[in-house]
Amino acid sequence: MTLTPQQEIRYHRNLRLAGVGPEGQKKLLRAAVLVVGVGGLGCSAALHLAAAGVGRIGLADGDAVELSNLQRQILYVTGDLGRPKPEVAGKRLRALNPDVQVREYCGRVTGADIRNLVRDYDIVVDGTDNLATRFLINRACVELGKPWVYGAVLAFTGQLMTVLPGRGPCYRCLYREEPPVPPPGTETHGVLGTVPGVVGTLQANEVLKYVLGAGEPLVGRLLIFEALTGRFETVEVARDPGCPDCGPARD
Ligand SMILES: [Zn+2]
Repeated sequence: MTLTPQQEIRYHRNLRLAGVGPEGQKKLLRAAVLVVGVGGLGCSAALHLAAAGVGRIGLADGDAVELSNLQRQILYVTGDLGRPKPEVAGKRLRALNPDVQVREYCGRVTGADIRNLVRDYDIVVDGTDNLATRFLINRACVELGKPWVYGAVLAFTGQLMTVLPGRGPCYRCLYREEPPVPPPGTETHGVLGTVPGVVGTLQANEVLKYVLGAGEPLVGRLLIFEALTGRFETVEVARDPGCPDCGPARD
């Protein structure tokens, strides 16, 4: 693979980076990233991944664009209301960067199909807004040895962590059990639109680092962003030997 003259210009700022260069850009162009949930987090992450030249992006979401999404889900415009999110998002990403192949999965991700989806990708971005799907992603990724980047937002705060199976804690080392009653989410408590913007962008940042083999991933470190104070905090997370997903006695 050689970069075309157009790609040399498009990715000029990547190519100038120490440790990236043409080889790094080719890694990005060959990479395949699955974004599960194309809401506030997924929109921000996918936009940056496409702009950076990630060659293959999968978008999975069962929802259609709603008016209340437009406050933070930056791939959609008013004229998109009622249309399936992956379809609209895919069109936007292709328009941004024709180098990117986008595959759309318009449907709710379930336990049966998550493995088949994850199998085709190098790394997964969690853009979901519910714990049940996050548990499914964790189980599938740990079993298949695929890395994934967890992200969550609520009100004025957000958090993220990268899971590299076998190399650090997984999501269930952090949150062992799914609560019997789902906790209230952004629909109840609201969310400042910039919070998923920041966290989704940081998730994309984790993906780019992973693909490039650059820097230190947020493995075993939960990064918490507090919008009102403008502070970031890092909390160390240990691997749980009794973890039902990644422990030796996993069920
Ligand atoms: Zn675990």
